[in-house]
Amino acid sequence: MLARGRLHIAAVCVGMAQRILDESVRHAAVTKQGGQAIGTYQLVQALLADSYTDVRAGRALVVEAADDYDSGADTSTGPAAAKLFCSEMVGRVADHGVQVHGGMGYMRGTAVERFYRDARLFRIYEGTSEIQRLVIGRALVRAAT
Ligand SMILES: Cc1cc2nc3c(=O)[nH]c(=O)nc-3n(C[C@H](O)[C@H](O)[C@H](O)COP(=O)(O)OP(=O)(O)OC[C@H]3O[C@@H](n4cnc5c(N)ncnc54)[C@H](O)[C@@H]3O)c2cc1C
Repeated sequence: MLARGRLHIAAVCVGMAQRILDESVRHAAVTKQGGQAIGTYQLVQALLADSYTDVRAGRALVVEAADDYDSGADTSTGPAAAKLFCSEMVGRVADHGVQVHGGMGYMRGTAVERFYRDARLFRIYEGTSEIQRLVIGRALVRAAT
């Protein structure tokens, strides 16, 4: 049940990260600073590019781990890896989202501010990141001995 829950949390993290990315891209495309949209600045584009890559990697990992869980090929290590990566990933994406929004990103009423707080929980419940690392590391060593 814990492994199934970990897959669920990992998928929720991907969904939240996608929403944060969507909010950030929209904000970057319409918000002007220095006479031009902030999305035309390459350093802002880099924040968006890193988040896009993170979201795609997380989604691919969740789909693969869920396939392995459903087939019975891996009902423990894959879910732990998906939960570990995706919960850390949504934290990075939320941090980038706040940065793209500038001061607005820190203010209540902005979606990314709420996601920044909410995302922090995912590294704690359904097994902390440290516990996921223990599950994964122990399984790797056990399989080799
Ligand atoms: C909003 C919310 C909802 C929750 N819902 C549920 C729920 O529905 N059902 C449920 O059962 N629980 C629930 N929890 C509890 C949650 O699962 C625990 O908070 C979580 O497992 C961490 O346990 P802990 O708080 O006792 O922290 P601790 O276990 O005391 O951990 C504190 C720190 O020590 C680290 N640590 C602990 N043990 C080790 C170890 N062996 N090796 C290395 N580091 C270690 C942790 O990683 C963490 O960094 C919820 C918590 C929150 C905040």
